[in-house]
Amino acid sequence: MSKLFDQIKVGLDETLEEQLQWLDPEYGSYRILKKSVDARQNTPFWVYRIETFSKGENRPEISHPVEKLKKTPLEKPIIIGSGPAGLFAALRLIERGVHCRLFEQGSTATQRMKSIAAYWRYGTLDPYNNVCFGEGGAGLYSDGKLITRIKSPFIPYVLNRLVQFGAPEEIQYLSNPHVGSDKIRKVIPPIREFLRNNGCEIYFDTPVKKVLFENHRVKGILLKDGKEVLGTKVVLATGHSSVPIIKSLAQDGVTIEGKSFAVGLRIEHPQKEINKIQYKAYAEHPALGAANYRLAKHDNKTGIGVYSFCMCPGGYVISSGTDSEGVVSNGMSNYKRNSPYANAAIVVSIDHKESFGSDLFAGLTFRQELEEKAKAGVTAQRGSKQLPAQTVMNFLNRRNGDPLPSSTPSGCMALRLDQLLPENVVKNLSQALESFNRSMSGFISPNAQLLGVETRTSCPIRVTRHSQTLQSLSHLGLYPAGEGAGYAGGITSAAVDGVRIAEAIWQEMNG
Ligand SMILES: Cc1cc2nc3c(=O)[nH]c(=O)nc-3n(C[C@H](O)[C@H](O)[C@H](O)COP(=O)(O)OP(=O)(O)OC[C@H]3O[C@@H](n4cnc5c(N)ncnc54)[C@H](O)[C@@H]3O)c2cc1C
Repeated sequence: MSKLFDQIKVGLDETLEEQLQWLDPEYGSYRILKKSVDARQNTPFWVYRIETFSKGENRPEISHPVEKLKKTPLEKPIIIGSGPAGLFAALRLIERGVHCRLFEQGSTATQRMKSIAAYWRYGTLDPYNNVCFGEGGAGLYSDGKLITRIKSPFIPYVLNRLVQFGAPEEIQYLSNPHVGSDKIRKVIPPIREFLRNNGCEIYFDTPVKKVLFENHRVKGILLKDGKEVLGTKVVLATGHSSVPIIKSLAQDGVTIEGKSFAVGLRIEHPQKEINKIQYKAYAEHPALGAANYRLAKHDNKTGIGVYSFCMCPGGYVISSGTDSEGVVSNGMSNYKRNSPYANAAIVVSIDHKESFGSDLFAGLTFRQELEEKAKAGVTAQRGSKQLPAQTVMNFLNRRNGDPLPSSTPSGCMALRLDQLLPENVVKNLSQALESFNRSMSGFISPNAQLLGVETRTSCPIRVTRHSQTLQSLSHLGLYPAGEGAGYAGGITSAAVDGVRIAEAIWQEMNG
């Protein structure tokens, strides 16, 4: 019989096995169910939840079996986009016995990586193969943090499938699971091969121009090359940067609403400084790795929130735009989190209704204008690929100055970010930095730098769907999914949303 042990505290220089000898002297093997670090006190320690098995007892494998339809339906649902939402919708459909067709505007991961390297090196953007577009979607070049705030019974399923396709096993029990860009890129191609071998047709380099409707029902899709593909179920998993297809939906009368979002800058510190703030005397302890943080400030009077987002310990600031006229910052790290820098987005919430009224696309226009302004600032200084940057000190004191060295492979150029962003955003960011410095003394540092612009933390619109059927409120057979449709905000939540959509389709096909 297995036994459960919760809240086992293990010092940094102790081993879990030593503790288990005391707790369950007869144990033969064990499984970690949860592991986190508690660094709130002066001396950090690990906290575990463990299941032990007696000698000779079999350790059951973690599995999430899925019941399959007995007969494969003739109808093959269409999925647009191969990000986490699209890939997991396809995976779950296949596991349910429903064959499907997946259309991706970009190329396979390998080809796509060459285009990204060229963009960072020379500033030449491939509109279909970049940090957000191509096989794996924005997830492929993401930091690979798998933590999510959503609650869903599908989270363990998603993590388990990622492990089966090559992600480290620990993501199933760490409180802060992280795959890293280097490892997530190795997980996506095996998912593609599994899908292809089990009934999913995948079409790369095939942009979808629009979804076709008849009498408020889906009748198929129109590809960029003019071909029509017929079908009555379309999963729209196009991510938060695919504006033309969203505009085409609006033209066809599909119900879309404005959604609050956030804009700001990415802050970069030497990782050593963040380790020192978070781990104090233990900053250099090899067991701890690169420290992270999560910060937030909410103004009750204005309702405006400023918060850190996508914190990448031991990471790189990257240029992640999808438009050649604009520049966008984001962050990533490899599995080992071993770059000497820590970065995070610091963003200010923008209430769509308050800022733009009923103008549906004003949020998208606002974000595009900021990105173009940033690019124009770089171009004016004869830059081509660089990210604009300003030290935190210069930003707070609103003055010029040289940029600091940075992790970004695109290089950076000095720009007055305090003049580029709208005044209310600058004011809120400045107040938040002061507040963050009070909770993390040393956060405002002469070695800290801001880079920009951070405009793609989430999508400013939502393709509204029915809470039960998950189909568009106005058009039957259209299943908005993932981040672009406004129903997810990260890898895990987008993948979970894809699974939910697949379940809704399967249930409908299953009567
Ligand atoms: C640099 C970076 C770092 C990130 N780090 C993290 C992280 O650490 N943790 C985390 O949880 N999240 C992170 N994210 C966010 C995460 O990647 C996204 O939330 C997630 O990928 C959204 O999934 P999705 O499937 O909804 O859309 P996407 O991943 O954006 O995928 C959409 C796909 O649809 C395709 N597509 C779009 N339009 C069309 C069309 N018309 N025809 C055909 N194909 C089309 C695109 O090419 C793309 O491949 C990061 C994002 C970036 C850019």
